[in-house]
Amino acid sequence: SAKTEGKGSYRFFQSRFFEAIRTRLETELELRRALDLHQFVVHYQPRVDLAGGGTSSMEALVRWERPGQGLTGPDRFIPLLEETGLIVQLGEQVLDSVCRQLVEWAADGTTLVPVSVNVSPRQFSQSDILALFRDVIERYGIDPALLEIEVTESSMMQEGIGESAVFRQLRELGIKLCIDDFGTGYSSLSQLQKLHFDVLKIDRAFVLRIEHPDGDALIASMIAMAHALGMKVVAEGVESRKQMQLLRTLGCDEGQGYFFSHPVPPGERQPEGRREFQPPITPKP
Ligand code: C2E
Ligand code: MG
Ligand code: MG
Ligand code: MG
Repeated sequence: SAKTEGKGSYRFFQSRFFEAIRTRLETELELRRALDLHQFVVHYQPRVDLAGGGTSSMEALVRWERPGQGLTGPDRFIPLLEETGLIVQLGEQVLDSVCRQLVEWAADGTTLVPVSVNVSPRQFSQSDILALFRDVIERYGIDPALLEIEVTESSMMQEGIGESAVFRQLRELGIKLCIDDFGTGYSSLSQLQKLHFDVLKIDRAFVLRIEHPDGDALIASMIAMAHALGMKVVAEGVESRKQMQLLRTLGCDEGQGYFFSHPVPPGERQPEGRREFQPPITPKP
């Protein structure tokens, strides 16, 4: 009857519900274990100067090296780490790994370029981010100018962390600040002006539409706005030569994307970016 069917579907949903909770708990346990065992590794993706062609900096992007399962990308585990607060611990491990890498590169004579590190809003609200950066800089003897922090535009708006004094303090330490995934987070011009950030990263979604009608106008206005506020502009997700050329024509300062290089392990780093990339003008020494 309808009554027993109803009961059956209730049980069905109930068991699905508990199954979902169990899966979540298992994943959380697995992530805790992964943090304890230091299974997270950092890959690096170059940010290329569109006028000169050289690598101006690199972004640190975390991956989970699961034994027997290869690499898992951050979109698969960052949300749960954020929900559980474990992102604070991951953030510490990533920053530590980046600093150790910088020291290693310095020791073996590899050209040093600044590294930008993604920081989650939870790290601002639930940990002392200023102390974290101050400590690693001191511990590793790192030039603070070699570190940059990326915060997404949307997290800045959601958590109201844009209002926080910590950005000024980080800037006073000598660390550069970058607003990530710009164009997806609805910040206002006045908010942007108050932030005093150094770099604005245009979200990949806009670069994807650059060849569509008005797609270039949108990017041109973002570049004009960022430059008016004294920020350097980086386009993310540059995948083709055409996109790279259009961005250069529009006055975009730097590009990042598969066209230049995928994120790679530190040992495979190409300090000069992608070889086929020919800058229009040969930079003067
Ligand atoms: P994001 O900071 O916006 O990083 C850029 C993402 O775009 C990276 O994905 C990168 O691999 C990818 N990408 C780069 N070039 C291209 C391209 O040409 N085409 C396409 N389709 N994609 C491109 P990934 O590595 O999967 O990271 C995803 C997000 O995870 C990052 O987005 C960032 O928000 C977050 N994330 C990564 N590492 C960390 C970390 O250490 N801490 C925190 N809190 N978040 C991180
Ligand atoms: Mg980023
Ligand atoms: Mg981004
Ligand atoms: Mg993103």
